[in-house]
Amino acid sequence: MDCLFCKIIAGEIPCTKIYEDDLVLAFLDIKPVHPGHTLVIPKTHASTLFAMDQALVKSWAAAIQNIAKAVVKGTGAHGFNLELNDGSAAGQLVPHVHMHIVPRFDHDGLRHWPGTAYQNAAEAQTVAEKIKKNFQF
Ligand code: AMP
Ligand code: ZN
Repeated sequence: MDCLFCKIIAGEIPCTKIYEDDLVLAFLDIKPVHPGHTLVIPKTHASTLFAMDQALVKSWAAAIQNIAKAVVKGTGAHGFNLELNDGSAAGQLVPHVHMHIVPRFDHDGLRHWPGTAYQNAAEAQTVAEKIKKNFQF
């Protein structure tokens, strides 16, 4: 498969590895927001979160928690962002699902995304109902 991150998993493209187990690989992002910016990927190819097997999502999430703790301790960060860019509209560049762990520092100059507002509580409730109708467990 012509997938950059699958090639990294296969060892065909080098990476700076942080962690690996049977299911998950973590390595440094090649263009870090801050040093220590890490990507955590499932070793089974899936382009998006929805394409992942849910049992694997659970293992991946647990690994992300453990790896984030090490990233924070290792970099001396004051906090961190988890970011999953899913789909091109969300800025996904590499079509193999990956969680960014971005170490953050007080006054590091990065900003939260700009928020908007609902017109009123009814509008928020309408949006909530549209979402709630679509749960499929
Ligand atoms: P995105 O798909 O927008 O969530 O981000 C893809 C991320 O992959 C970017 O932050 C890139 O810097 C990173 N990236 C691309 N190629 C490599 C590589 N060979 N090794 C490590 N990180 C990479
Ligand atoms: Zn892949």
